[in-house]
Amino acid sequence: MPIVNRIADMHGEITAWRRDIHAHPELLYDVHRTAAAVADKLKSFGCDEVATGIGRTGVVGVIRGGKGSGRTIALRADMDALPIEEATGAPYQSTVPGKMHACGHDGHTAMLLGAARYLAETRNFAGTAVVIFQPAEEGGAGGQAMVQDGLMERFRVEEVYGMHNYPGLPVGQFALRPGPLMAAADRITIEIEGRGGHAARPHFAVDTVLVGAQIINQIQSIVARNVDPLQAAVISICVFQAGSTDNVIPQTALLRGTARSLTPQVRDLLEKRLHEVVEGTARLYGATAKLTYKRDYPITRNHERQAAFAASVAAEVVGRERVDDQIAPVMGAEDFSFMLEARPGAFIFVGNGDSAGLHHPAYDFNDEIIPLGTSYWVKLVETALQG
Ligand SMILES: [Zn+2]
Ligand SMILES: [Zn+2]
Repeated sequence: MPIVNRIADMHGEITAWRRDIHAHPELLYDVHRTAAAVADKLKSFGCDEVATGIGRTGVVGVIRGGKGSGRTIALRADMDALPIEEATGAPYQSTVPGKMHACGHDGHTAMLLGAARYLAETRNFAGTAVVIFQPAEEGGAGGQAMVQDGLMERFRVEEVYGMHNYPGLPVGQFALRPGPLMAAADRITIEIEGRGGHAARPHFAVDTVLVGAQIINQIQSIVARNVDPLQAAVISICVFQAGSTDNVIPQTALLRGTARSLTPQVRDLLEKRLHEVVEGTARLYGATAKLTYKRDYPITRNHERQAAFAASVAAEVVGRERVDDQIAPVMGAEDFSFMLEARPGAFIFVGNGDSAGLHHPAYDFNDEIIPLGTSYWVKLVETALQG
């Protein structure tokens, strides 16, 4: 099958929606313009139900099939942008200084709108398709907010599917894997307290810069020496703040970073060893260090059966040889993970071609892939809900 004909016809229109969203990026939960446009479109397509304000600014559309009752399958897109100054030079580039769609959520939203329109027009399935548009994927846990707001129960969702564009994966390809696909991402904050003093009299001080440096070094022994070498883990300290001038030993220092893992066991190990290493190292130098380990996004874990099903649907769109159903996991994180903890489902990558990477100022969603992603969504519903 390749692309659904009607969807090929809609390519220009969906592209226009995508570029309009692109030109008006909004952050986190403040996706008011985008959410309003999504809700208006869903109503104009004739969705049976359009609900707004779920998980603060999330939008849900309900489309009942024309072939009678059946199961309920949900498809999810994200709507938020990033605090990045755009450097694409595209004619439709961001009109908002310091904000841009650098993760392709504009494309995700537009493709799911296209699918909703097609499904509402044709209704060639038995059961119910639920389209979910979530806010705050980029660090705000909007997916969790929608789940906590009763998303799954209210719309009787039985399975849930997500999709993300993937720079570097050629256009016309899909990729996923059963089990862990993306990492758990946890936030590390370390507050070090020493004793400030004159830079020339270090023996009367407890130097928090030295303690911070030692902690950063010791922390890397956790991944190198405590985690099974056949398991994946990352600890990156990305912020080191201390001092304000060259002749004062600072009283305090602050470290911040991220810990990533693909299994609950490794996640537990990282948290436990970070406490021991951080607190123990500080003590060794006569300082104190308080570690706050905040469990943020969970592991994005595809369910076996749904991942196999998603791969078979993608194969219908692009051919079996262009679907990698055993891609290596990535250490990035996704808050679709909260939805996969609530219901069985699968997350799939769609190739964005040779574009700049996600979160880069020159990144742009590739409009060529719109018919592929949209066809995947409608095929998924029509196949899962054959009746
Ligand atoms: Zn992102
Ligand atoms: Zn993203």
